[in-house]
Amino acid sequence: MNQELLTVFQSQFQQPAQLEVHAAGRVNLIGEHTDYNDGFVLPTAIAQRATLQISKRVNSDQTVRLYSVQMNQKLEYNLGTETSTHGWLDYPQAVTQLLQFEGYEIAGFDALISSDVPLGSGLSSSAAFLVVLLRGIRGLFGLEITDLEIAKLAQRAENGAIVGARVGLMDQMACSLAHVGEALFIDFKTTQFERVPLPKTAELVIIHSGIMHSNAHDDGNRNYKTRRHECEKACELLGIKTLRDLEIGDLERINALPSPYSNRARHVVTENARVLKTVAAFKVGDLTRVGELFAESHASMRDDYDMSETEIDLLVEIATSNSSIYGARLTGGGFGGSIVALAKIGEGRVAGEKIALEYQHRTGITPKLLTPA
Ligand code: ADP
Ligand code: MG
Repeated sequence: MNQELLTVFQSQFQQPAQLEVHAAGRVNLIGEHTDYNDGFVLPTAIAQRATLQISKRVNSDQTVRLYSVQMNQKLEYNLGTETSTHGWLDYPQAVTQLLQFEGYEIAGFDALISSDVPLGSGLSSSAAFLVVLLRGIRGLFGLEITDLEIAKLAQRAENGAIVGARVGLMDQMACSLAHVGEALFIDFKTTQFERVPLPKTAELVIIHSGIMHSNAHDDGNRNYKTRRHECEKACELLGIKTLRDLEIGDLERINALPSPYSNRARHVVTENARVLKTVAAFKVGDLTRVGELFAESHASMRDDYDMSETEIDLLVEIATSNSSIYGARLTGGGFGGSIVALAKIGEGRVAGEKIALEYQHRTGITPKLLTPA
């Protein structure tokens, strides 16, 4: 167990921690906004992760006490009284409410959360938080829950009334199931997944653009929620249940839709095809091809899904023209956030620093190199 955190735990809760668990943050390599359209995604775990230390309550009561190192705040509530406070305590409250609803036998606990997954950067600090909580509670109370079930519970917790974020299942599956150095190819029609080892000749570079979702250009329609509605509307107009029912051969039908529904559907259908091609390219170690697919994916997110920002387009352009980089693209939900790039092994750090510096010079915005950490 992490000694430094053990000391903090002891001083916050006046008892030792019984258990320590972890959950990684994630980056999506390709397949954006496809998860809620029953499509394909290819996320992988990153080195940054959430750590949870947890103990049963000394007097076995129903109180839950949580200390967040990042928030430097200790909060508490009683099991059975979960209600939204519009803060970070909503995540544990959503988890314990759901577990009780599902009939799991739990009691109060003391827990410490510490995470080096940057908050709100598109690397899924929220899913890492939910997954690590579920893992800790599973371990502490001996619950029989698989890692896939943990992902599904985490998604329901995030979707539910307390947190109220209508997110897909990708983040939670990646945080619960993916390993560093290995991508998780997921088919959301079945939630079946396949582990795809990443070639040892390449490494990832992740750079945060310095643009947060909250200060991204939004005319009221440039957000996650609107895009989900547009996909549903596209299905309605096409008389299908989900965009997964369409393939590249259906592009003529898709192109005939009114804008922006044609654009949104075209992104999802072509992005699904690109995920399959990327998996195939990784399997044969064709990194140049992966780079091309990253570029095509970025263009589709920019032009058809309208989820990029001018500065992020520039960041991708700077990265793409670096000789150590095979390809780069926006990653995550968009409207701000990070880019992911594939670099030649051993060259990621230098390339990442150079790209970040040029971006800062040209935009005046301070980016952050997140990987290599
Ligand atoms: P992302 O998942 O992209 O990082 P979200 O907005 O979905 O961004 O989730 C960020 C939220 O998750 C934070 O505002 C906070 O409420 C919660 N969170 C994540 N990590 C921690 C942490 N270590 N301590 C407390 N809350 C956290
Ligand atoms: Mg999140």
